[in-house]
Amino acid sequence: MTASIIDGKMLSAQIRAEIALETAEFTAKTGVTPCLAAVLVGDDPGSQVYVRNKQKACEKAGIASQLHTPPAKISTEELLALIDRLNRDPTVHGVLVQLPLPKQIDERQVLEAVDPIKDVDAFHPENVGRLVQGRPRFLPCTPHGILQMLKRNDIPTAGANVVVVGRSDIVGKPMAILLMQRGEGGDATVTVCHSRTRDLAAVTRSADILIVAIGRPRFVTAEMVKPGAVVIDVGMNRTPDGLAGDVDFQGVQQVAGRITPVPGGVGPMTIAMLLHNTLTAARLQTS
Ligand code: NDP
Repeated sequence: MTASIIDGKMLSAQIRAEIALETAEFTAKTGVTPCLAAVLVGDDPGSQVYVRNKQKACEKAGIASQLHTPPAKISTEELLALIDRLNRDPTVHGVLVQLPLPKQIDERQVLEAVDPIKDVDAFHPENVGRLVQGRPRFLPCTPHGILQMLKRNDIPTAGANVVVVGRSDIVGKPMAILLMQRGEGGDATVTVCHSRTRDLAAVTRSADILIVAIGRPRFVTAEMVKPGAVVIDVGMNRTPDGLAGDVDFQGVQQVAGRITPVPGGVGPMTIAMLLHNTLTAARLQTS
């Protein structure tokens, strides 16, 4: 069997076109242009590329964007002051702090400082709490992008055995929580694996849907995948031969039923859902 490809690039373009239409309608009705402010501390080249891509996507969807680039040596207090200014600025609807932050910065304090109603990454404890309780304001972008990929490819989650490999606050944990919620896009039987999981391959082989977010190039191999399974590769790893996912695409493609490529899979979906959240934030702040 050769798996069919779940094309994140195409789906993302479709979703971004939908958001562009909704944004145009919103702006025509309210006179408000949604605006995303990105804070990029220092000059990490990878982060610069991510932020630039997010800004370009905003522009194409009719969403305004601001870029704030404090130097790498900024203190936590100075960064908090910048966040405070953005929180108070009524023309800014979404605030995004690009991670990782330099070591001297108290990351938790910074993420908690973002006004929850402008927290388009959904990292603030209030938004995480709402998500866990099944009454989210914003869905975290990467897990939401994955849910959209499943939904728009008619892959049901209800009753499915889903294995999530990775338990980060950004991907693994919220992914598992969303999949176990009651209702559409949820109702899955979810197993979460991590570096201490015993016999990982035995667990991953039980998955109807396998979602991998560990940050290790080509770690998941064909023997770890049940024939016909849906494999979602979140990994984005820079290797000497280019960007690689966490899944050994060549090998796993021979076993899986469907698979996401890297690049062109989950990455573009994450950006589309960020635009979705920025429009949602503008709606919530516009009476
Ligand atoms: P983290 O480093 O925060 O978390 C990695 C997780 O993987 C941890 O829970 C860790 O376990 C687990 N893990 C590491 N090694 C193993 C192993 N050998 N076996 C089982 N579990 C393991 O990573 P992120 O979640 O932030 O990112 C994961 C990947 O996804 C990265 O490549 C990142 O670049 C990419 N990413 C892609 C995005 C996109 O839009 N496509 C968005 C965000 C991330 P433990 O907790 O025990 O340490």
